[in-house]
Amino acid sequence: ACPFGAIEQMSFVDDVIAALKDPKKFVVAHPSPAVRVALAEEFGGKPGDLCTDQMLNALEKAGFTVYDVNQTADQTILEEGTEFIKKVRYWCLGERSPEVNMMAHHPLPHFTSCCPGWVRNMEINFASAIPHVSTTKSPIQMGGALGKTWAAKHVWNKDPRDVCIVSITPCTAKIFEASRPEFIDAWKWNVEHNVIPKDSPVFPDIDYSLTTRDIAEVFRRLGIDPLKMPTTHEVKPTEKYTGAGTIFGCSGGVMEAALRTAYALLAGEELKNPDIISVRGLNNSLVEATVPIPLKAQGGKIFELRVAVVNGALQDLKNVMKIINEDKDRWHFIEVMNCPGGCVNGGGQPLQGAGSSWLAPTTPLPVKL
Ligand code: SF4
Repeated sequence: ACPFGAIEQMSFVDDVIAALKDPKKFVVAHPSPAVRVALAEEFGGKPGDLCTDQMLNALEKAGFTVYDVNQTADQTILEEGTEFIKKVRYWCLGERSPEVNMMAHHPLPHFTSCCPGWVRNMEINFASAIPHVSTTKSPIQMGGALGKTWAAKHVWNKDPRDVCIVSITPCTAKIFEASRPEFIDAWKWNVEHNVIPKDSPVFPDIDYSLTTRDIAEVFRRLGIDPLKMPTTHEVKPTEKYTGAGTIFGCSGGVMEAALRTAYALLAGEELKNPDIISVRGLNNSLVEATVPIPLKAQGGKIFELRVAVVNGALQDLKNVMKIINEDKDRWHFIEVMNCPGGCVNGGGQPLQGAGSSWLAPTTPLPVKL
C-alpha cells in the first residue's frame, strides 16, 4: 500500500468481530504457517518468536473454531506433487496412458500456483506461462472449499451456509485472491451446469481475509493477549499437519515439500533424509538445484530433476522467463514467491522500526484482560 496513505489496505476487522458476535454464524479461523512466527511481535515478542499453541488458544478464546492452513498446505502438496509427477511421466518418461495423457496440455516446466502475487503478475506480464502453472488451488482457497464441504459435513456437522471462513494470512494479495470470481462463482457454476442440485447455496470459499496485523487488532479489541495464553493446546482433527505444510511459509518450502512427495511417488520409497537443503536460501532471490531420483519403474535408473526457486526479485523472475524461452528443458519445476524470502516477509506481517505509524495498531498496548 501507499506510504502516503493514498491507498489503504482493505480491512475486515469490523466484519469479523460482528460475525463472532452473531450466534447464527460458525466462524472458522484459517491461519497460515507464517502468521504464527510473526504474531508475537505485535504483542511485544521478538521477530521469529514461534507462538503456535498460544495463537490457537487465543483464536478459540475469541470464539473461532480453527482449521489450520498447515493442514490444507499438506493437501495442496499431495495435489500439486501428483500433478507434477504426471507431467514428468508424460513429458520426461514418455508414458502414454489415460492417467497422464491430459498432461499434453500442461507442459513442463511446472510452476507453483500458491502465491497470488506471482499468479497475477504472471497473468499480466508472462501470460505464455499459463499452461505451465499448477492447477492446484492455494492452501487457503483449498481450505475454504474443503471447510464448507468436507469439514462442515464430517467434522463440524454444520450447514455450510452458516460457516464463515476467515483466512488469517501474512499476505495482502490473499485478500485479492479470495475475491477472484473463480473462487466465488465455482458453486454457482456447478449449479448452472447441473453438477449439484439447483437449491445448493452459492457462497465464496473464503468469507473474510485478515492479515497478521489485522488479527492482532481483533485480539486487542477483544482484550486478548496471545502471549498470555497457555503454551499447550489440545490438537483437533482440523489442526493436524506434517512438517511439509509447515515449511510453506518460507521461500523453497513449497518446492521442498513437493520434492518429498515427488521422490516418494517416483522412487517408491520415502527420502531417508527429508531435508532438501539445496532448495532453501533466504539470502538468494534465485536458487537452482538438481535432485537425483532413482526411478522404481525403470529398475532404479537415476532421473535428475532440475528445479529453481525464485523469491522477491522481479529481475530474477524476468531472467528465469528469458532462460525458459531460450531453453525449455533447463528446469522441470519452478517455485515463485513474490515476497523476499517468501510469506514470512509478506505485506501483512508486523511492521518493523519507527516511521510506520500510519499503519500502527489502532488499539494500543498493553491490552486489558
Ligand atoms: Fe502473499 Fe508474498 Fe506469500 Fe506471495 S510470497 S503468497 S504475495 S505473502
